[in-house]
Amino acid sequence: MDALHNQVFFPASLPELFSAWTRFPDAVPFAGGGGLLRNQGKQILTLPRNILSLERLEELQKITRTERYLEIGAMVKLSEITGLGKIVPEALTKSLQGIASPQIRNLITLGGNICNPSRRQDASAPLVALDARYELRTAQEIRWVSASRFSGLSGPPALNPQELLTRIRIPLEQWHYTVYKKLTDMETADGDGGSAVFLARIQKNILTDIRVVFAGQILLRDKNSETILAGKQLPLDRRDAEHFSELWRTYLSAIEEPGFMLREKIFNFIESCIFSLSD
Ligand SMILES: Cc1cc2nc3c(=O)[nH]c(=O)nc-3n(C[C@H](O)[C@H](O)[C@H](O)COP(=O)(O)OP(=O)(O)OC[C@H]3O[C@@H](n4cnc5c(N)ncnc54)[C@H](O)[C@@H]3O)c2cc1C
Repeated sequence: MDALHNQVFFPASLPELFSAWTRFPDAVPFAGGGGLLRNQGKQILTLPRNILSLERLEELQKITRTERYLEIGAMVKLSEITGLGKIVPEALTKSLQGIASPQIRNLITLGGNICNPSRRQDASAPLVALDARYELRTAQEIRWVSASRFSGLSGPPALNPQELLTRIRIPLEQWHYTVYKKLTDMETADGDGGSAVFLARIQKNILTDIRVVFAGQILLRDKNSETILAGKQLPLDRRDAEHFSELWRTYLSAIEEPGFMLREKIFNFIESCIFSLSD
């Protein structure tokens, strides 16, 4: 029977899923289908030859909360996550609320957003900035990787062959200043750029932590500039804000991608965020 093609599997457990995946190594996980079917509205749909539907895997639908973490199963729908309310870090909520329409957010999943092979989708920048970690499973092993390592600097996500994203673990740290923005790129055919997030933690008027991440075709984060502002009093001295902006200017000018227009948008976003913390 293994010679048959065009099969859709509906495993009800992970052992069942990996057994089918071992027999059909080219099979592709199908979560909500939003990424796999996107831009196919006016044509006959093209689907991968063999499909592993994840919809019956209850283990991937769970949401749990401890004192320090929020854990979200890969198959949890975006609308369910935004419906959890204030427990979800604001940066993630804002990114999910900006994806597609409410109807589509009822169908598509966080795991599908993170695993999209074509480019880093909108949840990636917040998850990297929040230091999220992902649980990945194969038939043989379970490993945890940081969101930033999973996203990588460029190219597709760091998934091994026949590896499934099962859980997303998000630290529940308090961030006092959150800005999230989708950025378009008019130098590309579809205008699809990426998204940027700026987080700051403030304690007794002191800036204790700052994170700035852009994710699109590539992932950008300059840890060097983040450390120079830790411990500074608010409002920031304008010279400190200018220094921070200049470090980002240098960092962005050293990379070839994205193109000039998107790089300018990223820089303007960072500049406006940092100057809003200064006098
Ligand atoms: C009209 C429309 C508008 C959209 N707008 C946006 C937008 O504004 N911003 C945005 O970020 N995205 C957007 N998307 C893209 C997409 O729907 C989302 O990124 C979505 O979260 C994908 O989730 P899904 O559950 O549908 O994944 P799928 O389409 O089922 O899967 C996406 C990819 O991830 C893989 N995959 C899925 N789950 C797993 C897993 N657990 N482990 C390993 N691999 C897995 C699949 O094999 C596939 O390659 C849009 C889509 C549509 C249809």
